[in-house]
Amino acid sequence: MKLSEEKVYRFSELANKVKASMIRELLKYANLPGAISFGGGTPDPETFPREELAQLAAEVIQKEYKYTLQYATTEGDPELVKQIIHLIKRVYDVDGVEPENVLITAGSQQALELIGKVLLDKDDYVIVGDPEYLGALGAFRMRDPRFLVVRFEDDGPDINQVESYLKKLDASGQIHRLKFLYLVSNFQNPSGITTSLEKRKALVELAEKYDFLIVEDDPYGALRFEGEMLPPLLKFGGTQRVILLNTFSKILCPGLRIGVVVADKTIIRKLVLVKQSTDLCGPALNMRLTARYLERYDILQQIKPAIELYRRKRDVMLDALKEYFGDVPGAKWTKPEGGLFVWVTLPEGYDTMEMFKFAEERKVFYIPGQAFRPFDEPSSSMRMSFCLPPFEKIVEGVRKLKEAFLAYKAYKGLR
Ligand SMILES: *Cc1c(COP(=O)(O)O)cnc(C)c1O
Repeated sequence: MKLSEEKVYRFSELANKVKASMIRELLKYANLPGAISFGGGTPDPETFPREELAQLAAEVIQKEYKYTLQYATTEGDPELVKQIIHLIKRVYDVDGVEPENVLITAGSQQALELIGKVLLDKDDYVIVGDPEYLGALGAFRMRDPRFLVVRFEDDGPDINQVESYLKKLDASGQIHRLKFLYLVSNFQNPSGITTSLEKRKALVELAEKYDFLIVEDDPYGALRFEGEMLPPLLKFGGTQRVILLNTFSKILCPGLRIGVVVADKTIIRKLVLVKQSTDLCGPALNMRLTARYLERYDILQQIKPAIELYRRKRDVMLDALKEYFGDVPGAKWTKPEGGLFVWVTLPEGYDTMEMFKFAEERKVFYIPGQAFRPFDEPSSSMRMSFCLPPFEKIVEGVRKLKEAFLAYKAYKGLR
């Protein structure tokens, strides 16, 4: 047998269906020397509280080894659940969350996958956005549902379009096959858009009227730079209508892989059963470490310097966009009040996927909007993350992006 020969395996339908992420391919060269990448969606490692975590890790391994080095329960560390309930009250002003309403997952990504498993059968309907968070699309896609795609406006999903889908499903007797609407409510990844108060209420009302669930994913809500925090959809719909997902990935660090589901007890019990077969239980060490961190430090105070850093970087990016793209008719971009992303839209006729190679030649990277479209159509938008590049590189990167834009424009003969 030759080791170099490629063997064809009889993979499952699911395995044959999964594709490598376009982002991975596109960002292969983003780490080369001299490259400026607006592509990454990860937080700045300098914001991770490494000293604090290192000290606590030693403590919880030595003093709490009977817990931290042992199997845990599938529901998650009760000490962490206690801290999370406390935090939910503080951040969202939501009362009445009991330990039975909470499940700790390996990041929100696992929660998305488990939700797909407990709610979706083949050909069920799910309402998602255009654009939408890739991780969610990938997790749901495993279940082979039908996506109903809703345009994002400056203040969130187009409610009229949601309603027209609902009416059609209702009229055709298919409404029971609509399982949930997925929404990143604050500073959406990729668009930076926050769903307005009116739209939050309207979505919950529609969910009541047509009896479907809302999966509210909020990894960025606590990364607000300015303006007023809006109540979560959970606050209007309660746990029987809304499943709230949260994560410590963007406000503490992604490496611990701590995500949170807040949902009705009956849903949590199902998720627990399915999670058991997935991984038995989450990592006790990481859960307890996070619990003790939350106990000892005020995480909302701790993230203030990170928020300030991201706010300043956002300002630098918005200023640079204004300077270099302000004179491009039809170009526009979001002005997020938090989170990690600005969504830049070029005039009609521009395709940011095609433009990518012009940017790559100038060693500046972004993620083409096509990556975030549920049906993979070309897009004139792109996701620009401001969190990783140093200040001066943000300006230089946007300047180079303008050069790439002009080169692409000339190549295509666009006006
Ligand atoms: C980053 C992110 C997550 C978090 O993923 P983890 O698995 O918790 O690291 C979830 N949803 C959205 C929209 C995100 O941007």
